[in-house]
Amino acid sequence: MRLLVRLQRLDSELFEVLSEQRGLPEEINDLKSQATAYTSILNARKKKHDESEVQKRLLAAEIQASQEKIKKYKDAQTTARNNKEYDALSKQIEFEELEIKKAESKIKAIDEEHQRQLDLEAKGKALLDENNFDEVTDEMMPTEYLRTRIKSIESEIEEKSSELTAIINETQSEIDALNEKIKAQRALILQLDKHALSNFDALRSGGIQNVVVKFARGACGGCNSRVPASKHATIHQGGFYTCEACGRIVVHERFFEEAIND
Ligand SMILES: [Zn+2]
Repeated sequence: MRLLVRLQRLDSELFEVLSEQRGLPEEINDLKSQATAYTSILNARKKKHDESEVQKRLLAAEIQASQEKIKKYKDAQTTARNNKEYDALSKQIEFEELEIKKAESKIKAIDEEHQRQLDLEAKGKALLDENNFDEVTDEMMPTEYLRTRIKSIESEIEEKSSELTAIINETQSEIDALNEKIKAQRALILQLDKHALSNFDALRSGGIQNVVVKFARGACGGCNSRVPASKHATIHQGGFYTCEACGRIVVHERFFEEAIND
């Protein structure tokens, strides 16, 4: 029992030292994934924009080529030797004119799509100005806003990272020492009572920080549930009681005093 209490104390000390990091690692991770999400929106937008530009340049080149062909055909028509030759050239001209129309409508569609995106971003900006952040979809987020956000997130990450590094530098030796002690304590308990250790671990991984608690004023020191009177004697005699309400291991407080004096 004393061994378990001691393990609990070491574990709590480690928890306290780690909590000096004040959730910084999690905060930094959240910020990083936020920045990644924003960056991928920007990248997708840029890719789409670049592809549209290439497409438009190709279409413009096609139009120019068709126009040159038309000019050539028209020149040829002035020297056509007969109607048949003239009509054949007219057909070629018509074909090229149709090609120009097709290319122009493709360019128009690209421009319309671009305009649609700009309109969405304008709508997003208006919503942001009204603080209606929840209604702004990824598509609506203004490019400028995304760039600004990424920059400020990056500087926030930098700030928190250096804060975390400072804390780690201060506490790392303490953490290492505690981890060593915990390892030794676990090895000791494992030899004597395998079951107690697995019980402890099961509760601990269930999110309970203080697994071993004091028997205080007739109740479980963890959740304050009453301990049945029939179990009081066991606890006083140095045994333990598993709290029916929370599952914690309730032991006499003298074990805690002994653990501190170890
Ligand atoms: Zn309890």
